[in-house]
Amino acid sequence: MASNEFKVGKATVRLVMGDITEASTDAIVNAANSSLMGGGGVDGAIHRKGGPQILEECKRIRATEWPNGLPAGKAVITTGGNLKAKYVIHTVGPVWRGGNHGEPELLEQAYQNSLRLATSKGLKTVAFPSVSTGAYGYPVEEASLVALKAVKEFLEKEDKLTEVVFVLFSENALEAYSDKARKLF
Ligand code: ADP
Repeated sequence: MASNEFKVGKATVRLVMGDITEASTDAIVNAANSSLMGGGGVDGAIHRKGGPQILEECKRIRATEWPNGLPAGKAVITTGGNLKAKYVIHTVGPVWRGGNHGEPELLEQAYQNSLRLATSKGLKTVAFPSVSTGAYGYPVEEASLVALKAVKEFLEKEDKLTEVVFVLFSENALEAYSDKARKLF
């Protein structure tokens, strides 16, 4: 039977299907847009369930650190508000423009900067959605490989995290991630 758990060093990478707003990891990652003001997809779901405190902190970040918006590839952290997760890490993935406009590099940075932020806060467990593969149009076959490679590379260098979970929203996404993980890990 296909396993959906993979070991990288001391950490476990887990692939599950579900709703990331239900995850009980220390942090969940939001596939945000540059405005940090909320939106559709997973972003909307996180703000709806997490409550207004998340948006308040996002507004503060916009007013101070990122007045022109958070660029693709970067990440910031806020409270998790009413979510089970204590924190939300907001990252912005690239919009797919055919694949030759730096999309893989920006997607890799989005994952790596999110993980870096989590470890800098002393967090142990983090859940990701499939960043960029919704409204931003990144093909899941390609995004899944970039995502898993970025996580693998990070965990090989950094041993503070114990678990990284990918919470996939469809059977199709779960399959794409599982296929790539079996080849990569
Ligand atoms: P992006 O703009 O980065 O493409 P989207 O939110 O549109 O972000 O989509 C990113 C991925 O998140 C998509 O694969 C979408 O199916 C998925 N998604 C949407 N809602 C949820 C949720 N509640 N939990 C987990 N994944 C979700």
